[in-house]
Amino acid sequence: MIIVDPTDTAVSAPHSPIIIGNDQESDLQEMKETEAGLKNQNGIDWQKLRNGRYEAERLPRDFSPERIVPDFAFNVLNPLGLLYRPVVDEVYLADGVAKPVWPEGKPLAVCLTHDVDLVTLYSQRQVCRAGAQALRQAENWIQKTRAALAFGRDWAATSLRKGATDPLHCYERWLEVEAAFGARSTFFFWPGWSSVRRHHPSDCTYELTDQVVFDGQKCTVAEMIREIDHRGWEIGLHPSWYSFDNIDEMKRQKETLETALDHDVVSVRQHFLHYDIRVTPRIQAEAGLRYDSTLGFNDNVGFRFGTCYPWRLYDLQVEEELPIVEVPLIIQDGALLNPAKGMRLDEDTAFQYVKQITKVVERVGGVLTLLWHPNAVMNPPCWNLYLRSLEYLKEKNAWFGAVRVVAVGGKQCWCKGLDKA
Ligand SMILES: [Zn+2]
Repeated sequence: MIIVDPTDTAVSAPHSPIIIGNDQESDLQEMKETEAGLKNQNGIDWQKLRNGRYEAERLPRDFSPERIVPDFAFNVLNPLGLLYRPVVDEVYLADGVAKPVWPEGKPLAVCLTHDVDLVTLYSQRQVCRAGAQALRQAENWIQKTRAALAFGRDWAATSLRKGATDPLHCYERWLEVEAAFGARSTFFFWPGWSSVRRHHPSDCTYELTDQVVFDGQKCTVAEMIREIDHRGWEIGLHPSWYSFDNIDEMKRQKETLETALDHDVVSVRQHFLHYDIRVTPRIQAEAGLRYDSTLGFNDNVGFRFGTCYPWRLYDLQVEEELPIVEVPLIIQDGALLNPAKGMRLDEDTAFQYVKQITKVVERVGGVLTLLWHPNAVMNPPCWNLYLRSLEYLKEKNAWFGAVRVVAVGGKQCWCKGLDKA
């Protein structure tokens, strides 16, 4: 078996798909090697890995709320060449524990998710919010000039498009294609500009009262959210950049989305995956969130905690499990296809990665969580890759579910640790 060093893959060899043995005998042999080799040679303590202790120890020294999200290069599994294998699950199965069996006897679960960062491509209101915020936050005249120029450029672009059909007003297409595969996903919505007290430049700019078009009907974002929920898809919270360590932000944002939805929100993914393993699990749990799906990579694919099984998150400060379950993120669209960062793949090579990662998830009967941003509907390679992936996963006889459904399905299937969740 050959494992491509993820660092090489991301930086210098983006067109070499990973190769993984696919006959059962070599799989078993490999699991035995994993068990023997990783426990002894690498000295990895799997409990410590899953509890987040390695991640906490390896954060950049200058890690602060303003810093970019530390990515796969900081992960303890990266230098070991193990990012592309669910090594914790392999050890678990090699210890003789039965492989999970998903509903209807399906061999693996697939959790489809979408982070709704944009609802409109050309919105003068959103340009104004972002522009005013940038001007307020500018600390000197150079920054003020830059903010003013950016505002002028964006205002002109939106003015030219006024009255034209917005290319993002077709989110019903995601529901249509998923329904055709018997799937329902989770849409993580941001709770609206005015429900966020402290804004970051990367934050979303829409309000739940902004106008969109959904399925040919003019409506507000809140009305679109209710309609998606009504059709059987899950609505989760996509909280702001600064919510990761702030219980007031997290609670307020959750409550705002719940008010729009008229029922509880239980699933969450942090915007930009901005998350601190030392504090965010408790903040989310205290806000009443029960399922998180943040723990993946922005610039790579793979298994950030060496597992594709859901597990209960851990509070490192008081040394106890929390009543919140992680459904780890494994593959996101931007990591594969963004031409400016990450793996920078073309559609066909990205599809090879989807297939190879699917095979290793299938081998342990885990959950393959995919994140596709809804604005990918404008990007043909990204949209096509989603369709090809769904088709392939259907052929693999996968069981599809939203975050909440997969976490509950996982509870029924196999995971002792979920009993108290
Ligand atoms: Zn986001």
